[in-house]
Formats: sequence, structure tokens, C-alpha cells
Amino acid sequence: MLQAINNNSDSITKDIQATDARHHLHPFTDSGALNSAGARVITGAEGVYLWDSEGHKLIDGMAGLWCVNLGYGRQELIDAATKQLNELAYYNTFFQTTHNPAASLAKEIASITPGDLNHIFFASSGSEAIDTLIRMVRHYWQLKDKPYKKILISRENAYHGSTIGGTSLGGMTGMHKQGGPLVPDIHRIRQPYWYGEGEDQNEEEFGLSCAKALEDKILEVGPDNVAAFVGEPIQGAGGVIVPPKSYWTEIQRICRKYDILLAADEVICGFGRTGNWFGCQTFGFQPDIMTMAKGLSSGYLPISAVAVGDQIANTLMESGSDFNHGFTYSGHPVAAAVAIENIRILKEEKVIEYVAEDIGPYFQSRLRQVLGNHPLVGHIEGEGLVAGMALVKDKASKTFFEDELDIGLICRNFCFENGLIMRACGSRMVLSPPLIITREEVDELIEKALKCLNLTLESVS
Ligand SMILES: *Cc1c(COP(=O)(O)O)cnc(C)c1O
Repeated sequence: MLQAINNNSDSITKDIQATDARHHLHPFTDSGALNSAGARVITGAEGVYLWDSEGHKLIDGMAGLWCVNLGYGRQELIDAATKQLNELAYYNTFFQTTHNPAASLAKEIASITPGDLNHIFFASSGSEAIDTLIRMVRHYWQLKDKPYKKILISRENAYHGSTIGGTSLGGMTGMHKQGGPLVPDIHRIRQPYWYGEGEDQNEEEFGLSCAKALEDKILEVGPDNVAAFVGEPIQGAGGVIVPPKSYWTEIQRICRKYDILLAADEVICGFGRTGNWFGCQTFGFQPDIMTMAKGLSSGYLPISAVAVGDQIANTLMESGSDFNHGFTYSGHPVAAAVAIENIRILKEEKVIEYVAEDIGPYFQSRLRQVLGNHPLVGHIEGEGLVAGMALVKDKASKTFFEDELDIGLICRNFCFENGLIMRACGSRMVLSPPLIITREEVDELIEKALKCLNLTLESVS
């Protein structure tokens, strides 16, 4: 809700900042630097807008952290949580018990996932879902009497969360340098980043050659040793890297050829972001197992899930043994109740169709019309309501900025100062607004982005 600006807002801000600096360690943050600058204090939100403690209104081009798909302040989601809190605030699902929210949400997820992804394992975060996936696929092959099939293959510059499993599976070198050693038996192949790495290949050829890298890797480590390939349909935190159309179908063919499980990390792409329920549908492939989180509850409460295909689930169910894995909050009833309501609204209000047919195409075409010719913008890629822009020093020669100049951070800071949340992933600027954004709000978002790109250009010229 709109935060009243009162005379004390200055001192309230300073108080919160001081407390925060003293006691709160922030994720993915240089805490020392943040503490001397002071964190921005967010106090309220409605629809696609946020307010801070100084009364500034910001348009949230990132849906929080790629998650607030239905926007802020949806009363139905708040009511679903309140109702469930009153009925049953918590019970676990470990010891032969269940409850209606967990069972019903599993059914709802199974109704929207493609193919035979009919069995749902719950957790609370994307990282936990990824750790579940790692353990489950390795366990699956053990049950199949192929315990040697242990290796997971993922991509450079992939993001799969920041638990030790997520960090190890991901391809973020900055993360690999800290807190190791990493989980063994994980290998990575190149990312399908055509604009940055495609050189003189056309997009489709490049897609095929990046998929070929999977086959090469499988042959290098031995097909009998590979459990699964895991990838985000569109890499999110890597800067919104949209693979060529040829990529995923070829990846699928290779996985099938060598009897390797195909896993989609749908934590960002799931729940309508790309104009389908899941990103794999946008790219035409069928995973054997998939992870989801973020948009599952529109971020209102923490919940994640692994959707498991019949092949894996039946093997688990027929094994006659426990799968020794789970979390205190697996299937948390309040989070599940919110997720059920979230899916109900997505269906009833035809939000996925709105992204596919109306606002997604509008957003993508306006971005290109308004920002495509900007001297800093080398390339724009995206699907539905997610997009990434490469910022370059020289467009014609495709020259990137040197590492000493953090162009993304400069741009992001201008955005913050000018009422826009646009994230920087290195030198790529990314947008992923709430799915309920209107055309007028898209126009505002893109106008603000243009202004901030101009300010960025001026500041480095
Ligand atoms: C955000 C993200 C994760 C991790 O989710 P958390 O809830 O932050 O643990 C995993 N995979 C992808 C693709 C993500 O974008």
C-alpha cells in the first residue's frame, strides 16, 4: 500500500539502515560497502509498483526476484494464507501423514505440467528443489542397478541456486571460488549464448553445435556414467540467455540416445514467464523431471517443487524402500494454500494466454522499437515477459566493455535513482516484470529504461 510520507521518514530510514548494517548480512552482497552506503528500505507494494521509506515510487521490472508473477497486494493470496493459518498452520508430511493443501497442490501442479510429470516432491526454495533433483536422479540410477550413472551435466553460466548442490551444479565461477570444495561428479558444457559466443555461425547452427557439446561431453566421460543433463530453458541469472530454437530439441535427442535423464530447471520460466506454463513447452521438449519455485506462489510464501515423471516415480514407488530426503517444510500447508490460489488465478484470469498473445509480444516489440537502436544496446533477446540486453561499448564491432568498468552496475544505479528496478547480470540488463503488467505500465517501464540508458551513456562518454 501507498506509504504515507511523514516528517520522520528521514530518521526512520536512518534507524532501519543502521540496524540493518549492524545485524543483517545480505545475500550476494558486499556487506561492508552496503553498510556504509545504507540499504534502500522497501516499505510497501501494489501491482507492479514498490515504495521505499523515503516515499519514492519504483516500477518493479523484476517482479521482485523473478517471482511476483501476479503482482503485489493480491487479496485472494493473502486470504488463502490467512484461512489456512487459521485451519492448520503447520503439519509435516514425513510420517504417514498428509493434508489437503499438499495433496491438492500436487494434483494442481500435475494438471499443468506437460507429459507424465505427475508426481510432486515439495521443498521451500529453488535451491532445495535442485538438491532434491540431484539426489533423486542419482538414487534413481542406484535403484535401476546402475550406480555408476552419477554424473550430472549442466552449463557454464547456469544458475541453479546457492546451496552446495545448487552452487556445484550452477556454472557461476564467482560462486565456485567460495565455500568449496564443490559436489563431485558434475561436469559443465558451454552455454548457448549466440550473441556473445556465436562468432560467425548463424543462430540455428550455433544451437546445434552447443547441443553437440553435450554429446561430446557424454562420450568423453562415458554414457554409462551420466545420470542427467540439467538446464534452465532460458538462463535467467546468467543474463537472460535465450537459446536458438534448434538447441533444446537436439539436447533432448541426445539425452534419449544415451539413456540420460533430461531435467529442466523451471524456477524462473515456470508459471507463465515465457507465455506457456513452462519454458520447456516454449522450446518444444519434454523433461523427465523438473524443478519449480519462484512463480509457484508468486513469491508470497516460500515454496518449491520437483515434478517427477512416471519413469522415475514408479521406480521410487516400487523400490520397497524409503527415499531418505526431505525438509521440515516440504508441502507446508500455508505456502501450498497460497500456491493453489495462485494457480487458480493464473488459470481463471487466463494470465498465461495474456502473456502469450497480448502483453508478451507487446513488451518484446516495444523493447526492440524503443531500445533496439540505442548505442549502448548491442542485442535484445527474450520470450514472453522476460528479456535481456547486452550493453556494449561499440555496437558495430560488437566490442564489450572491459571488466574495469562495471557498465551494468552503473546502469542499474541510474535505474534505482529514477524509479525503475532493472537488474544487471554483469554487463547484461534484464527485465522480468509481473505478468499482470498493463500496456501503459510496459510503456512507462521502457521509457524509464531508455532514460537510464541515456544517463549511462552520458556518464561513460
Ligand atoms: C532462483 C533460482 C534458483 C534458486 O532458487 P532459490 O529459491 O533462490 O533457492 C534455482 N534455479 C533457478 C533457475 C533460479 O532462477
